[in-house]
Amino acid sequence: MFDKILIANRGEIALRVLRACKELGIAAVAVHSTADADAMHVRLADESVCIGPPPAKHSYLNIPALLAACEITGADAVHPGYGFLAENARFAEILAEHNVHFIGPLPEHMRLMGDKIAAKRAAKELGIPTVPGSDGAIGSDAEAHRLARDIGLPVMIKAAAGGGGRGMKVVRVENELAAALDMARAEAKAAFGDGTLYLEKYLERPRHIEIQILGDGKGHAIHLGERDCSLQRRHQKVWEEGPSPALNTAMRDEIGETVAKAMRAINYLSVGTVEFLYEDGKFNFIEMNTRIQVEHPVTEMITDIDLVVEQIRVAAGNNLALTQSEVTFHGHAIECRVNAENPVSFRPSPGRIIHYHPPGGLGVRIDSAVYHGYAIPPFYDSLVGKLIVRGKTRSECLMRLRRALDEFVVEGIDTTLPLFRALARETNIIDGDYHIHWLEEYLARGALDQ
Ligand code: ADP
Repeated sequence: MFDKILIANRGEIALRVLRACKELGIAAVAVHSTADADAMHVRLADESVCIGPPPAKHSYLNIPALLAACEITGADAVHPGYGFLAENARFAEILAEHNVHFIGPLPEHMRLMGDKIAAKRAAKELGIPTVPGSDGAIGSDAEAHRLARDIGLPVMIKAAAGGGGRGMKVVRVENELAAALDMARAEAKAAFGDGTLYLEKYLERPRHIEIQILGDGKGHAIHLGERDCSLQRRHQKVWEEGPSPALNTAMRDEIGETVAKAMRAINYLSVGTVEFLYEDGKFNFIEMNTRIQVEHPVTEMITDIDLVVEQIRVAAGNNLALTQSEVTFHGHAIECRVNAENPVSFRPSPGRIIHYHPPGGLGVRIDSAVYHGYAIPPFYDSLVGKLIVRGKTRSECLMRLRRALDEFVVEGIDTTLPLFRALARETNIIDGDYHIHWLEEYLARGALDQ
């Protein structure tokens, strides 16, 4: 096992990893920018190192500074959290060159899945069902036109190097295709330094359902069920739950085993998530994330498996501690990503929290790094914290969620708590009857505007 882990991240995920280290008896090193000197993960770590000024590219993305921090503290492994360097294959390689372990997948798998075209091709070859679309990058506009006619409009143009919900365009009529391609190419080049595009059938009312995977890089891989992340705004997840209201046990076992089998075939190491759009009883692969995800607590709450602990264990070369039949699902869990944003305009609202009272009680978990008097800096994401609630049944979970949301007090900044209070009382949500566009349509109706 590792002796000392450096956590190359900040906020709630840095704290989450720190907690796993403590429970494993591993020393933890926090790194921070000058803006995060007062952060909770810094206060609770065994050691901390300042790695640069506030902008992430000079601190949390600063590889030489992170290497120096490993050297100074004698850390033998790095946990990247999510975001920042979590899916950076080169970072993992550089660490290896310095005899530091990267707690994550092999660089080759991060590269494969980071290229969305290569990922889709690999998924198809591994027997995972994919969204109908171009069999690779779009060559000419003429080819795109032919393809759009073949698969049928509407289609979605996507950037091969895209991520975070950016670089996607929907085209509903063919005479808008050429202009949309030009715009998407220019945007992708500007945002990701790569203008490569591909085309997919645009699904009108799918659900976003993702399968959690855990592998030990030695041919053993299991799935830990699904999360339904259909409630999104601008392709960003807002509310996640598991199990999905749309699946039953047989469906879960079938898609879970398909994915686990594919992961065994490539000797996948670490945690990972295979994402699908689910419509008319069919799963359509969209991408794989080779990191621990924001919404991982949903799975932890219904399986009782600590995903970060398992991720650390397999990174240290241990075999999977669990077999598929040992994974059992209990009850229902829902996660709300509470952001420091205005609940109507979604304008970011960084600043000082002058009053903070998180909810508690049976089945209530808060993953957050904020505290009374803490000032949310304007430089990073606007997550205040994740509220995760578990119940024996989905209806008990919803009842508990409404109760927990009503208890939650955050004053001094705007938060999206009022949005969640409203969502937890919406008939469609209570019935589990929603899809990836539901939230945008709901917000467009002005349901929350006063
Ligand atoms: P990113 O890597 O930027 O998150 P994804 O490919 O995972 O991009 O897609 C993000 C979201 O965009 C999905 O959860 C879904 O809401 C929407 N989306 C992606 N592909 C399609 C599609 N073919 N049809 C309809 N919506 C899509």
